[in-house]
Amino acid sequence: MSMTSKEIRQKFLDYFESKGHLILPSAPLVPQNDPSLLWINAGMTPFKPYFNGQATPPKTRIVTSQKCIRTNDIGNVGKTDRHHTFFEMLGNFSFGDYFKEEAIKWSYDFLVNEIELKQDRLWISIYKDDEEAFEIWKNKIGIPTERIVRMGKDENFWQIGTGPCGPCSEIHYDLGAEFGCSDNCDFGCDCDRYREVWNLVFTQYDYTEDGEYKTLPSKNIDTGMGLERLASIIQQVDSNFETDLFIPIIEFISEHTEYDYESSDEIKSAYRVIADHIRSVTLAIGDGVLPSNEGRGYIIRRVLRRAVRYAKKLDLKLPFLHRIVPVVVDIMGNEYTEIADKEEQIKKTIKSEEVKFQETLDQGMVILEELIDELEGEGREVIPGDEVFTLYDTYGFPKELTEEIAQERGYRIDSEGFEEAMEEQRARARAAQKDHDWSSAEIELFKELRDEIEMPEFVGYTQPECETE
Ligand code: ATP
Ligand code: MG
Ligand code: MG
Ligand code: MG
Repeated sequence: MSMTSKEIRQKFLDYFESKGHLILPSAPLVPQNDPSLLWINAGMTPFKPYFNGQATPPKTRIVTSQKCIRTNDIGNVGKTDRHHTFFEMLGNFSFGDYFKEEAIKWSYDFLVNEIELKQDRLWISIYKDDEEAFEIWKNKIGIPTERIVRMGKDENFWQIGTGPCGPCSEIHYDLGAEFGCSDNCDFGCDCDRYREVWNLVFTQYDYTEDGEYKTLPSKNIDTGMGLERLASIIQQVDSNFETDLFIPIIEFISEHTEYDYESSDEIKSAYRVIADHIRSVTLAIGDGVLPSNEGRGYIIRRVLRRAVRYAKKLDLKLPFLHRIVPVVVDIMGNEYTEIADKEEQIKKTIKSEEVKFQETLDQGMVILEELIDELEGEGREVIPGDEVFTLYDTYGFPKELTEEIAQERGYRIDSEGFEEAMEEQRARARAAQKDHDWSSAEIELFKELRDEIEMPEFVGYTQPECETE
């Protein structure tokens, strides 16, 4: 069965409405009353007060399609077929109402009977000691044991510090051997073959200060499924970027560059990064975040600048990115009316950022040229690391760009010195983190965006659902 993303989203909401859920609109991307978080990054995040008992939900069953931003996935964007910085998470929630059996049954029923995915393509992961989930999947649903995989705490147990926590079970879709990274690629491999689609979290314990898992009197269900991933499977395309949520953006870009989307992995990746980032920035500005030098605004600025760098790879005539906004509005403006309402403002904001960034780059270029002249005069051949860092930090010159320009003129850069300067910056960020509690998550994110050129390991920022990576 092929369906548009609109139809899929609606079908999900309707399905759970028919199971007694209240459909709520997506919360804004900016968390309300939650200083510990920079962005809403999962469907459950806006409902934290319901989960921890601070507030009463309007109904014990809720279903949403939630706008999410995960900047910690920025390094994956364009590299995998399935990660975005902005995505929509479909989720059904139970606050002390139904539990594991219904959650599992309905997820299966939705995927296999409503959406008509092939049962034999589904792979289930469960927490290793969750016999209850195993029983349900095996006996009540009929998934053969060889496709029910037990995973450890790191992968299939959701917990953040003390408080409510519990095992989860994830539903994966095997796209087939042709998607595997090698002939012996197996379930558990991190490539694109076994696509994680849906995460069901069973919040059944309270983790106490003494390190005990006490059974909660009132158990909750929290699930999340990426709309883009589900669409890629239903629409039988190779990646999320070839679904109807992205194709118009890819086509628009394609009309303005000489480079063909399929011409190479690098080019394809540039298209994807631009398409991904423009969605994030458009939706974030739609929710009131403006590019700036701090907080969320800084993240948006960095994401946009990153998109500009990729636009340069495609030789797009800049400023360009703002011109994609109407395409994004066309695709999602009906669901997220704020971007349709603010279309002009979003375009203007992005355009002025693009122009500003271009000016900064031009300034940086002048400085780099001067620097090279100076070194020439002194008969030196290496650009000092702290200068490379300043160009990076202040003028948005990635190290690689400086290196490239330097090489063209017969110079090298002091990479080690650059790393040292970067490390000093990190130390300053850590010190700042001590002073300002509020910005601990923020600083982590700054650091990531700062480091993403080097694809750092991500540390510290808590995900509200289990991570299998
Ligand atoms: P992955 O292992 O693929 O990174 P995850 O385990 O981090 O996903 P969860 O936190 O379990 O993801 O989120 C629930 C669902 O949301 C996932 O099963 C997936 O369908 C979707 N999802 C998560 N991260 C992204 C992303 N960066 N882009 C698109 N969809 C995502
Ligand atoms: Mg997961
Ligand atoms: Mg992840
Ligand atoms: Mg995972």
